Amino acid sequence: MGKQNYMINDFSLDHVRNRHEVIVLNFMREKLPGETDFCGCNLCLEDVYAVAMNTLPAHYVQRSSIILKKEPPSDADIARTVEDAFDKVKVRPNHS
Ligand SMILES: [Zn+2]
Repeated sequence: MGKQNYMINDFSLDHVRNRHEVIVLNFMREKLPGETDFCGCNLCLEDVYAVAMNTLPAHYVQRSSIILKKEPPSDADIARTVEDAFDKVKVRPNHS
C-alpha cells in the first residue's frame, strides 16, 4: 500500500508501524538458511510472514508511546512463532 492510503487531515500515519514487522522479517532471514525442505518461493515466504504476524498480538508503535502498557512478546517468543510458521507452511504449502 502506498503512503497515500495512510493520509488523514494532510498527515501521514505511514510511519506508525507494527513493531513486529521488522523483527519477524529479521528472524525469517536468520532462520531461512536452516529451513531444509522449505520451498522458499515468494508465496511460501508471504505465507510464513502472514502466519507469524497473525499469531502475534498486534503492537503498533507511534512517535511517543503513551497508552501502550501491555508488555510486547519477547524476541524469543517471536523467534518461536516464526519457527512454527515455517513448520506450518512446510507441511501445508498453498500450492502443489
Ligand atoms: Zn512455495
